[in-house]
Amino acid sequence: MAFFISYLTLPFFRPKHRLLFLLIACIGGIIPDIDYRKSWAARKIWPLNWILSFVLKHRGFIHTIYPPVIVGAMIVYLGGTKIYAIAFMLGYIVHLMLDMLTHSGIRILHPISSIRLRGFVKTGGIIDTSIFIASSVCAIFLLFGIV
Ligand SMILES: [Zn+2]
Repeated sequence: MAFFISYLTLPFFRPKHRLLFLLIACIGGIIPDIDYRKSWAARKIWPLNWILSFVLKHRGFIHTIYPPVIVGAMIVYLGGTKIYAIAFMLGYIVHLMLDMLTHSGIRILHPISSIRLRGFVKTGGIIDTSIFIASSVCAIFLLFGIV
């Protein structure tokens, strides 16, 4: 979904390297689930997951608005271009917004506020799976310029 949404923003942001923008947005969209052992990101970056799982619980701090802002600022501070910081933040925020649609929800402002934003979608259910499949198909069509 991060790919699809970031693709739709290309005319607005007009990055010099469109594929790099999309790749960074996808990384931003995958990273938040690094705190969940069974996620794709956690299995690929298992040393980081191993450390984080001791310190943080799933859908805890990693699923708040602070990490994308902090990482985005770090990207710019370390000499990265603002547009790629925006790509990372965009992918990350898309992930957070999708998690907000689920029964579990997220506490996006924790620890400042403990309000949990949640929706009606069951994780791994028909709506969740449908959104994943539809956005993946759209991403493939867009990536190969079919549409
Ligand atoms: Zn998540």
